[in-house]
Amino acid sequence: MSLKSVNDILNILQLETKLQEQPFQRLLKCWSEVVGTAVAAHTRPLSIQRNVLWVATSSAAWAQNLTFERQRLLVKLNALLPNPLVDIRFSTAEWHSSKQVADQPNSSVNPQHPSYLGKQIAPENHLNSDAGDANTTFADWAVAIQARSHHLPLCPECESPTPPGELQRWGICCLCAAKKFSR
Ligand SMILES: [Zn+2]
Repeated sequence: MSLKSVNDILNILQLETKLQEQPFQRLLKCWSEVVGTAVAAHTRPLSIQRNVLWVATSSAAWAQNLTFERQRLLVKLNALLPNPLVDIRFSTAEWHSSKQVADQPNSSVNPQHPSYLGKQIAPENHLNSDAGDANTTFADWAVAIQARSHHLPLCPECESPTPPGELQRWGICCLCAAKKFSR
């Protein structure tokens, strides 16, 4: 076996490891695109346990409606995830507690790649700068995001900075991939 083919195999294994280690993070990135922004505002994925996705909803009515829709959602999500989900459970039980955890200042600032960009910045950085000027804080954050994004390759369809893993997997970013699969 040549050295080159050994390297190829190692690269593939590394890529597969990366894809498998964070299925929930991948799901978060594509969630609002798959379910739509209206539904995303009333839902919050909590965790994946034994290939079952747990999602908090803002009301019992949302939990009920989405439970009827879950097969459709499973098909879309499984097209994007490395490990297929077997079911989705919707419940209002953790809506309020999970909201506090996920309610970070940058969670909805960039509609292009919200969770991806949001994770780049630790929220603690902003707690220290108690200048009290939210606009300045946001401007700082936007500049930091742009600087970081410049190191990323661009999605050929929407030209957004895209993690290389997504380009390798789909040839486009996960949001464009989600759009394609939902057509
Ligand atoms: Zn794209």
